[in-house]
Amino acid sequence: MITTNTEIQSYLERLFPINRSLTGNGNRASLAILSEIVPLNIKEYPTGQVVYDWEIPKEWNIKDGWIKNDKGEKIVDFKKNNIHVVGYSIPINEKIEGKKLKEHLHYFIEQPEVIPYRTSYYNENWGFCLSYNSYKQLFWEEQTYEVFIDAELKEGSLTLADYILKGETDKEYLFSTYFCHPSLANDNLSGTLMNAFLARELSKRKLKNTYRFVFAPETIGTITYCATHEEEMKRIEAGYILTCLAGQGNYGYKNSFVGDHLIDRVAHQTFREKQIDYISYPFVPQGSDERQYSSPGFRIPIGSVHKDKYHEYDFYHTSGDNLGFISIEAFISTLDIYLSIIDKLENNESFISLNPNCEPRLGKRGLYPAIGRRTMYSYEGKENKFPEYKDELDIIMWLLFYADGKHSLLDIAIKHNFHFDQLKEVLEKLKHAGLINLE
Ligand code: ZN
Repeated sequence: MITTNTEIQSYLERLFPINRSLTGNGNRASLAILSEIVPLNIKEYPTGQVVYDWEIPKEWNIKDGWIKNDKGEKIVDFKKNNIHVVGYSIPINEKIEGKKLKEHLHYFIEQPEVIPYRTSYYNENWGFCLSYNSYKQLFWEEQTYEVFIDAELKEGSLTLADYILKGETDKEYLFSTYFCHPSLANDNLSGTLMNAFLARELSKRKLKNTYRFVFAPETIGTITYCATHEEEMKRIEAGYILTCLAGQGNYGYKNSFVGDHLIDRVAHQTFREKQIDYISYPFVPQGSDERQYSSPGFRIPIGSVHKDKYHEYDFYHTSGDNLGFISIEAFISTLDIYLSIIDKLENNESFISLNPNCEPRLGKRGLYPAIGRRTMYSYEGKENKFPEYKDELDIIMWLLFYADGKHSLLDIAIKHNFHFDQLKEVLEKLKHAGLINLE
């Protein structure tokens, strides 16, 4: 196991309460914690820097925010939940009538018990979010309230990070996540933390591919990253966005715009092998940072594994998306899916027979059972939904049959409903027996 329940729990608990946004000290504090897992390259880009069609915004920091009623009681308090204050709120310290205050309050009538999450990044404004139940109980139009937001919006910088692992080849895969949401667990503390664990795990391995891990605020952070790493990003083969990975609902996979790219096929095969039911979402240009990475200038195919995809669960962008909503069990299970995906990207070999003229004699190489063998049967058309481990000799025969350099392990696994890991193991044996060469 690459991590433990205790370690995951401890990082979740430390990271969850921090107020993150597009910019600010909460983002720096979060990256500092993630750097304990893996040594991130942390980078700062100044307010006003032009990044393609955008500009890096002012830096936002907040210390406190509350509303007091006419008895002086705090009825909404940032310190109890940081999503109470609309992200990027400008400072305010005023007595205000309920009727006017109402224009700055946000709640969900459909889900009266949760606090919605709202931001006002590009429109200088202020506001508070609260549950509809609290709103009904605590606010009257004719009453006067004291509102206070101790925030600062000033020239500063946007913080992001990356971590690159060079493999034997320049073929490079991107694993990107966003960390601009405050105390929200599935979207997207789950993705942020998992990206760090994946990076740490791969840093211990000998790698064939090169991997780039990016941690950036969604949209503007990714745009900044693309603009400041344009050449490298244009060489990326494909990648994944890590978002919404540990909720209570369905597993899902959002396909890349290609639809049957290698990154899509390894993901689908992994779900099949693990016998996990999941929803396959077609590519749409809405979504997360694939909006930037897959844009015409970059055209990086991007997929995403989900456990409770954004927009699909009731608590999405509300206080209900908290540490009680996600589970360590789901987190570990998704982490395992991503590791299995990476394993396929690393080992999807094509191979060529060193003995292509008629079949090689397996017996003299110890690859054939001494006493006959059972009849080989065909898997075609079998009602076998999930790949199974098969008789080793069958796998040997198929691999030797396909050893013309034109078929990869993944092609064979998908076509014949084989388990990728078993193909990998048997291929290794054939290589040792001197029967094949990797392409
Ligand atoms: Zn979100």
